[in-house]
Amino acid sequence: MMKVTFWGTRGSIATPGKGTMKYGGNTSCVELRAGKEIIIFDAGTGIRNLGLKIMKEFGSRPLTIHLFISHTHWDHIQGFPFFVPAYEARNRIHIYGPPGRDKPFDSVFRGQMDSDYFPIDLGDMSPNIEVHEVRSRISIGRLTIDHFYLNHPALTLGFRVTDGHRTVVYATDNEPYEGSIHASGKKIDKHIDLPVMLDEKFVDFLRGTDLYIGEAQYTKEEYEEKKGWGHSPLETTVRFAVQANAKRLALFHHDPTHTDAFLDRMVGQAKELVKIYRGKTKCFASREGQTVTLP
Ligand SMILES: [Zn+2]
Ligand SMILES: [Zn+2]
Repeated sequence: MMKVTFWGTRGSIATPGKGTMKYGGNTSCVELRAGKEIIIFDAGTGIRNLGLKIMKEFGSRPLTIHLFISHTHWDHIQGFPFFVPAYEARNRIHIYGPPGRDKPFDSVFRGQMDSDYFPIDLGDMSPNIEVHEVRSRISIGRLTIDHFYLNHPALTLGFRVTDGHRTVVYATDNEPYEGSIHASGKKIDKHIDLPVMLDEKFVDFLRGTDLYIGEAQYTKEEYEEKKGWGHSPLETTVRFAVQANAKRLALFHHDPTHTDAFLDRMVGQAKELVKIYRGKTKCFASREGQTVTLP
C-alpha cells in the first residue's frame, strides 16, 4: 500500500486566511509512506506540521527519512529549518536535489540557514543529515525513484516513485514547452516540432501513473499574461494527465490568489476538460491534510 498525504499545497508563498481554509495556505510538502519507507517531496512550510506528526508517531525511536527537493525556490525549501526530526541526532535524513547550476545543491540548500537568515546552521542539526545530488535512478528498499527535468526558471526535478505495482509522480513547477517556446517557432528541422517533442517526453514520464501530483497554477486566461514564468495552465496539465492515462490528477501548487471558491471552480473545469479529451483521469484539487491511499 502507498499513502500520500498533502501537508502544503500552495505555490509561491504561504497564504493563511479565511479564503484558503479548505485547500490550505502552507507551501509545497507531500508525504509518501510505503511500508516502512518515509519519502517527502519538498520542504515548503507544510513540512513543519509533518515533522511534528512524525515526532508524535515515533517518539524516541530512530528513523530514516528521504526528502526529495524539486528545486530550491523558497516555497520548496523554506520549512526545512522548522522540521523538528532533523534536529534529533538519532534520526538519519537523506536530502536529494538537483545538481546546482553555479553552486552545488548542498551549499544552496544550506544557504537559507546562513546566520544572516536563520539563527541555527544546518551543521548544528542532526549529524546524520546527508545531502545528495540526483544524477541517476535511486533505490530505497523496494522503491525506485526516477527523475525528469521540468521546464522552470531553475534546475527543477520531477520524481516518479514506484514499488513495482503502484506509481506516484510528483512534478510541480513546470511549464509546457508548447506555451513557452511555440511562439518562437523553434524547430530542429522542418519535420520535428521541438516544443511538442519535449512535452511528449514529459507525458512519457507520467505514463500510466496511479497519481500525478501536478501543478495548474493558472487558468487559461491567467496563463496568457504569465507565459515564461515556469507554470502551467489547467488545460495542459489535464491534457497531459489524460494523454498519459494517469488514473488520478491532484492539482497542486495553488496560486496564492486562488481562494477555495476559485479552486472549486477550477476542479469543475478540470472535470469538464477530462470529458472533452475523452479521458478517465479523476481530478481533484489537493487539500492540506488530505490522504490518498493507493491500495
Ligand atoms: Zn514553487
Ligand atoms: Zn519554482
